[in-house]
Amino acid sequence: MTSGILNPPRWLFVDLNSYFASVEQQLDKKLRGKPVAVVPMKTDSTCAIAASREAKKFGVKTGTMIRDAKRMCKGLILVEARHERYVDFHHRIVREIERHYPVHVIGSIDEMGCFLDDRRANEPAALDLGRRIKRGLLEKVGECITCSVGIAPNRWLAKTASDLTKPDGLEVIRLEDLPGRLEHLALTDLCGIGRNMEPRLRQAGIHSFADLWKAPPAVLHRVWSGVGGDRFWHQLHGGDLDEEVVTRRTVGHSHVLAPQFRETPEAGIVARRLLLKAASRMRRLGYRAREMSVSARMENSLRGEAHLRFPPVSDSHALLAHMAGLWERVLDQTGRQRVKKISVTLHGLESSGTPEQLELFPALGSPVAADRARRERLSQVMDDLNQQFGRDSVALGFAPDKARVFSGTKIAFTRIPDAREFQE
Ligand SMILES: [Mg+2]
Repeated sequence: MTSGILNPPRWLFVDLNSYFASVEQQLDKKLRGKPVAVVPMKTDSTCAIAASREAKKFGVKTGTMIRDAKRMCKGLILVEARHERYVDFHHRIVREIERHYPVHVIGSIDEMGCFLDDRRANEPAALDLGRRIKRGLLEKVGECITCSVGIAPNRWLAKTASDLTKPDGLEVIRLEDLPGRLEHLALTDLCGIGRNMEPRLRQAGIHSFADLWKAPPAVLHRVWSGVGGDRFWHQLHGGDLDEEVVTRRTVGHSHVLAPQFRETPEAGIVARRLLLKAASRMRRLGYRAREMSVSARMENSLRGEAHLRFPPVSDSHALLAHMAGLWERVLDQTGRQRVKKISVTLHGLESSGTPEQLELFPALGSPVAADRARRERLSQVMDDLNQQFGRDSVALGFAPDKARVFSGTKIAFTRIPDAREFQE
């Protein structure tokens, strides 16, 4: 565990290698092992937006003019970009990573960050997770889908670590190995130092990573002309700017009811359905909740809201039991009027670890833990069945046919739904 270690690895960062080009090679076997440049259109006067690892050996990279790229690499194959494919693979990649561990931050279409919980915040566990993710991507998403994984005390250092070896890297940056470990990098190799920043750093006498490491926060504040410099200094030295993002995480759904479902019995079913959706999503992200809030707005504009804290749970039965009391309180506050809109949110999320871990609980011999593990597994099985056979194949406490009517993902949720939610 983390006790006694001052700066444990807290982030695992995944950076896909030559992403667009790798997806094209995955989709078309003829492109594998060949130098490929992905282009917005097939003309010499455009730039490569991605280059396969084979093309990179010739010096072709993102931004290289195609006219030049063809000179550098004789057999270069141009492929027109197909962004919908890259988005599709992005979702498949995130899904595969989340089979191993929740993704907390999507950096871009080909970058994902995971905040490591106490169990994973040590090098052997983090490296093991990194290897499993890499293997999972190759086996489940595609043999061309390689990535570089970086592990470090914060997200910025983890991203920097993922840049150290390409393709197919797995690197750890420890705070105690700095600045030596990164001394070979040019300032512009670092995320957050662009072409404009470099001359400003030089003007302040900062020419190398070692200089940057020694620079006091006040100097970086001046170079960045503001708090951006303080933030940069902070993350350079291992501080975490993301922790709040992670710990504040919530999962919730809200729904405006069609007029025929606004009487309280029907509205109650919708509320339960929203909770089950949120719970399913939460389990997929690998969390348990410690708090729930339920709110409703009535047709006459009255609002009701109720909130409850409880020991961490993820299983649907326990959450529905908590919900029942909250829903009654909301109805009491609002005089049991016709309900127009319902929101259900799970807060205080904490990592529940992997499904394998849950199976270990019964072995601990505690009947409470065993019971919780059994119910969590049941919820997980229901998620899997719904995933496999379609939404509401299995539901708790009300007829699936009736539930399906109000629970479509098409309805106006406050977030963009991802593909999987159509099956929840
Ligand atoms: Mg990349």
